[in-house]
Amino acid sequence: MKRLKLDRKVKYTYTEEDKKKIKSKEMKPYIKYFKRYSGLLALCAFLMIIQLIVGLIVPIITGRFIASLTENFDANVSLTHIYYILGFSLLVKPVNYLVDTIWTKCAAYVRYDLNTTVVNRINEIKILCFDNNKTSKFTSRMFTDVNKVSIFPLNIMNYIMGIISKLGFISYTFSLSLEIGLYMIGYIVISIVIDFARYNMRLRHHRVLRNYSEKEDNIQYENIHGMRDIRALNSTENVKEKIDKKFVYAASLNYKYSEKNRIFSHSNSLIKTIVYFFFLYVSIRLIVLGRLDIAAFIIAYNYHGSVSGFASNIISIKAYYSEVLLCASRLNELFDDSKFPSETFGDTTLTEVKGKIQFKNVNFKYTNNVPVLEDVDFTIHPNTIVSFVGKSGSGKSTIALLLSKLYFLEENSGDIFLDDKNINSLTKETIRNNICLVSQSPYIFDMTIAENLKLAKPDASQEEMDDVLKKTELYDFVYSCPDKLDTRLGENGIKLSGGQKQRLAISRALLKDAKIIVFDEATSALDNENQAKIKDVMKRMASNHTIVMIAHRLSTVVDSDNIIYIQDGRVHAQGTHTQLMKDCKEYRDLYKQEEKNAKIEQG
Ligand code: ADP
Repeated sequence: MKRLKLDRKVKYTYTEEDKKKIKSKEMKPYIKYFKRYSGLLALCAFLMIIQLIVGLIVPIITGRFIASLTENFDANVSLTHIYYILGFSLLVKPVNYLVDTIWTKCAAYVRYDLNTTVVNRINEIKILCFDNNKTSKFTSRMFTDVNKVSIFPLNIMNYIMGIISKLGFISYTFSLSLEIGLYMIGYIVISIVIDFARYNMRLRHHRVLRNYSEKEDNIQYENIHGMRDIRALNSTENVKEKIDKKFVYAASLNYKYSEKNRIFSHSNSLIKTIVYFFFLYVSIRLIVLGRLDIAAFIIAYNYHGSVSGFASNIISIKAYYSEVLLCASRLNELFDDSKFPSETFGDTTLTEVKGKIQFKNVNFKYTNNVPVLEDVDFTIHPNTIVSFVGKSGSGKSTIALLLSKLYFLEENSGDIFLDDKNINSLTKETIRNNICLVSQSPYIFDMTIAENLKLAKPDASQEEMDDVLKKTELYDFVYSCPDKLDTRLGENGIKLSGGQKQRLAISRALLKDAKIIVFDEATSALDNENQAKIKDVMKRMASNHTIVMIAHRLSTVVDSDNIIYIQDGRVHAQGTHTQLMKDCKEYRDLYKQEEKNAKIEQG
């Protein structure tokens, strides 16, 4: 196996996002989530105070116990101390259990509320944002960031209790010896100064790596999703090389950014060792001078670890808070409409949609500023079958996406009307309940067949499901599976063929029974026989539905009521098949070419 060669000169260009100073106000939107459970949080805080008091008492009694062993030893006194220690330690156990239980419950509640809010937010973001961002941008916020923010109040309470309890130890060391007390303070100051610099560095490092992993390509995930194509192309080695490059870059970046952190961490430990030696030295000198007795020394020696913990608690609380702020700011970004614009809808509800669609001077471009549609004008009348044809990349699917309002027109880019009402003035329900798009590569969920169907109609009965499955010729297949409607289909319906997936997606649309159904190359993977059967279904539906078809094969659209020929993002011609064969050279050429191909195929 090849050995990793770190790139010492690895470069990372800081983005504005990396440099942005994160302010405390980032946490403000989440206060309401914690306030909802303020009762539970208060109970947790109360129990933590009991833990704190016991945590302070037990070491002090332990100190006394140690002292009782060295000064005028009396077995009864020592035993009494031990009974006290045992009593308090046992008393605190149920409290510990309760704190743990409330903590877990509280964190689960807040995590659930936050996750629900994030999912709702993701569901309202414009689809275009998903084209321009990687899935991990959303998933890492849903998992890592939500989780960190959810446990924030509990963790902070824990840190604060830790600090208070250690403050108690420090005050106690002053009662043992002024010099030892002063030493402890000095030790804390030194530790804080060193740790502070280290944690700042760690935070920057952490931020750079998180931003980097989100921005860079997801090649290792794509390696899994695209495994079939990669192997079929015999490109495993090529893809592996790309993955390897990414691994080397990430490892080098990690190594470089953690370098200062490592130096600080080890210098810190070196300084602490020297200071510790100094403590032992001073203690011995004080004992020799008669200013510190052995019992007090043993107690101070015992507390040294706690005092060291105090310094790191102070720093950890700062570092932890900064990390939570980073997570909160990443979540806030998701809620920022200037970064991830939401879909917008109007407030007019159409109770009965007739199914008329009109495009008026529609212009559209995706984010790359290349015009995809220019001055597109057409009308689709209710209860007709209208087909869009044209070369690949001419803009047909874009029209389907716009009329389903999955993509949005910018201002002054023309208008789309549904039943003579501007689509922008209509409610989401009016649009989504009355227009249904079936795409060429529909997404089939890793659920059962019934669950996939019920996405379109949650209360669908078995008869209704059977009926649509019969229409799309899927019935026999479904009932030949051992689990029938309860057959699970795997991620993106991996257990189905391309044609079966398309037929299931059409079944979903039929079950939804929207007034307007848009089939975007939705039967492209079907054999001629199945395609003809589904065409019959569509024809029958057209008596009370508007059917919009986007088809690659002209033979599938010849009997449409209107055929719109799209060329380079414009309506080039429209009419019936006979009219277009007469008036549109491009349509005629395309049709003749298709006929020729069919003859060659038939031999
Ligand atoms: P057709 O359906 O006629 O094959 P499309 O409407 O899918 O054509 O695409 C029209 C043009 O828009 C193509 O040049 C394509 O590259 C581009 N395009 C499609 N989808 C996107 C997208 N999400 N982002 C950027 N460009 C896109």
